[in-house]
Amino acid sequence: MKMSTLLIQNIGQLLLAADHLPARLEGVQMRDLPFIKNAFLSLENGLIKDYGTMSECPTYPFDEYIDAANRIVFPAWCDSHTHLVFGGSRELEFVDKIKGLSYAEIAAKGGGILNSAAKLANTSESALYDSALERIHAIIRTGTGAVEIKSGYGLSLEAELKMLRVIRRLKETQLLPIRATFLGAHAFPTAYKECPENYIQAVIEQMLPRVADEGLADYFDVFCERGFFSVADTDKLLEAAAKYGLRPKIHANQLDFSGGVQIGVKHRALSVDHLEHAGAAEIQALMHSETIGTLLPTAAFFLRLPYPPARAMIDAGLGIALATDFNPGSSPSGRMPWVLTLACLYMRMLPEEALAAATLNGAYAMDFSDSLGSISRGKVANLCISKPIQDFAYIPYSFGEDCIEKVLIKGKIM
Ligand SMILES: [Zn+2]
Repeated sequence: MKMSTLLIQNIGQLLLAADHLPARLEGVQMRDLPFIKNAFLSLENGLIKDYGTMSECPTYPFDEYIDAANRIVFPAWCDSHTHLVFGGSRELEFVDKIKGLSYAEIAAKGGGILNSAAKLANTSESALYDSALERIHAIIRTGTGAVEIKSGYGLSLEAELKMLRVIRRLKETQLLPIRATFLGAHAFPTAYKECPENYIQAVIEQMLPRVADEGLADYFDVFCERGFFSVADTDKLLEAAAKYGLRPKIHANQLDFSGGVQIGVKHRALSVDHLEHAGAAEIQALMHSETIGTLLPTAAFFLRLPYPPARAMIDAGLGIALATDFNPGSSPSGRMPWVLTLACLYMRMLPEEALAAATLNGAYAMDFSDSLGSISRGKVANLCISKPIQDFAYIPYSFGEDCIEKVLIKGKIM
């Protein structure tokens, strides 16, 4: 293969630039990010080869050059929690919400996840792929360089397989690194209303073996919430998934102090996600565990829920990740900059902390820390180049504005 090289010169600030960073940043590490002013960055075959100050910039020839003209360069976002394969939007429920119905009431009306399941059942695999691909292109434009995508709108063997095959096809065709999560235990289908236990058996005995057999999932997820899957259900499901080597990344503590965080930590979950309802016991459970808390402020915003206690978590010394929860019901947006704005404003995260949470810590929550999430020699060159701005803080500050001019994935300008 012919070698390809690229040199980015005159970078105003190169953020999160250091080798040998830990797999995730915790506590005060999240605000003390390494950076270089007036920097260069060189790439070779889609990987980061070298970086430093302009005074050390190599003088040998490169295939391609970018003059950053004092712009800011940082790792592309790693969005570790999305449901971006779906059959249709749900703006009518948005109107129900304005009229005053709660998430639980909308769910009881057959809306919510079951509404998405009905739309998904009526959408072909190729139409699902096409619409998901459009969303992938859109999130790349706002700076996303890696994404996790869940199933969970199928809620039957065939429909869950359909969703997971769409994700597999996206993995095969896209440059963007993708992780797939099997979320069969997202909600109880109407047919199982009288005997939810039988649906759990169906997930364990019919779906899990097929999903594992076809190698369709990297992780296993459960919606561990009041009115959905209990802690006991979750325990049973995670134990079954472990037999197939599927590590958990679960929905926890969104609607209540559900015990989801603790059950996730018990099963060595890679992440426990949401945490709108988290206090001292949840923070204690996460301390010194391998499990990272992933916070989804756009979902809290859209559902008008209390925001997760990011400040208390970081001050206690935890690392946290930020993600979009991109889905048609509770977070119909895959724009990471908007996540950062809410994290800074309502969760009192400093812009540096939000950057760490949305890049390296998001990579950790997808087990991509070795290859993504920072500017480190040998890592994959997934990068954002800003528009002409003075400081990274301008990005969360100037909400709604597109502040990212160029996105590179595997060294290729998208
Ligand atoms: Zn979610």
